[in-house]
Amino acid sequence: MQTILEPHWIIPIEPAAVVLTDQAVVLEGSAIAAVLPVAEARRRYPAATRVSLPSHVLLPGLVNLHTHAAMVLMRGLADDLPLHEWLNGHIWPAEARNMSEAFVHDGTRVAAAEMLRGGITCFNDMYYYPEAEARAVGAAGIRAVIGLVVLEFATPYARDSASYLARARETAAALRGDSLVRCAVAPHAPYTVGDEGFRTAVALAEECDLTLHVHVHETETEIRDSVSQHGVRPLERLDRLGAVSRRTVAAHGVHLSEEEIHLLADRGAHVAHCPTANLKLASGMAPVARLLAARVNVGIGTDGAASNNRLDLWSELRLAALLAKAVAGRADALPAHEALAMATLRGARALGLDSEVGSLRPGKRADIVAVDLGAPELAPCFDPASHLTYAAGREHVTHVWVDGRPVVADRALLTLDLGEMRALASEWGRRLAST
Ligand SMILES: [Zn+2]
Repeated sequence: MQTILEPHWIIPIEPAAVVLTDQAVVLEGSAIAAVLPVAEARRRYPAATRVSLPSHVLLPGLVNLHTHAAMVLMRGLADDLPLHEWLNGHIWPAEARNMSEAFVHDGTRVAAAEMLRGGITCFNDMYYYPEAEARAVGAAGIRAVIGLVVLEFATPYARDSASYLARARETAAALRGDSLVRCAVAPHAPYTVGDEGFRTAVALAEECDLTLHVHVHETETEIRDSVSQHGVRPLERLDRLGAVSRRTVAAHGVHLSEEEIHLLADRGAHVAHCPTANLKLASGMAPVARLLAARVNVGIGTDGAASNNRLDLWSELRLAALLAKAVAGRADALPAHEALAMATLRGARALGLDSEVGSLRPGKRADIVAVDLGAPELAPCFDPASHLTYAAGREHVTHVWVDGRPVVADRALLTLDLGEMRALASEWGRRLAST
């Protein structure tokens, strides 16, 4: 089964900062077989199905490096509050009353529908009931790294850090070998997990060769509390516990000293930059240009829809490019091609998936998005990378492939029924409002 995709432009991400024209991408099964001139593709693959994309740009599917997918069911439940008040006063109580396998299964499908239609082909998640999430991921046909959450306090999912970790170990074994799902160990944050919980989480991640996904330095409050409780800032405490390494995806990284940036670089840790959530919760603005200058690998995440409130990586990458300039005081900070790399290959690298996805190279899995730049609001187009970063949005995504399978075609989602997703979300909304 071969397909030739014939777009106007290709931004392969590898090699970096390149725009190809008159080139095609050939899919064979779940993989990219070739990137080559259109005429040659037609000659070499005469039996292939051709997909004409005459005003489109093709690029790797977007990687959402930090989210809590099922929280779409709490979108707009509580806004205009700082993080700790939002979590303690609203989100955690609502979760305590409503959390279940069904909540996670339904919420993940609703989130996957939004993400796929917006060109996100892979997401790095942290939530409860990972087996239910994995079933939803399989039904949606999206790729995911599912965080096996660890907390100290009781929820309907588990009662203490030891029971979260026991469930994490079982789930990691149960999901091994799934083609679309990988697992990560996800100790929630320095302020919700004790030293022993972190040590055991790190040991599990090392034993099973998994990513370690953790919120780090999101707010100044969390740093102040750590200094008074532990005598050190959270990142230093995590480092002493072995939790800062090449397998670490540190979500947020808003408040970082120069030494802390160099510690992240030295350890090979990755940062998931979540600009909208940081602005909305008034957490601050991450020092992205300084992280990049220190050669820290930075990807982009939406965070959960309850604190964003969109799972839209185009709006995140645009905001990331704009904020990086304002924070650095330099208009050349985070140019378009670099922002696109953060939303694709660098996110994949943070998850250890860069040999499989994140760029359009022969041999990689075919996770691809087509964006139509033919709309009048996008004409003229001097540079498709510029439009993708500063002008286009998820409404211009027309086709998406995950692992070679078409999941969105001519803007229609092929794997989930949108009417059913809307009904599910509305039903959960009624339950949340009445409890
Ligand atoms: Zn988060």
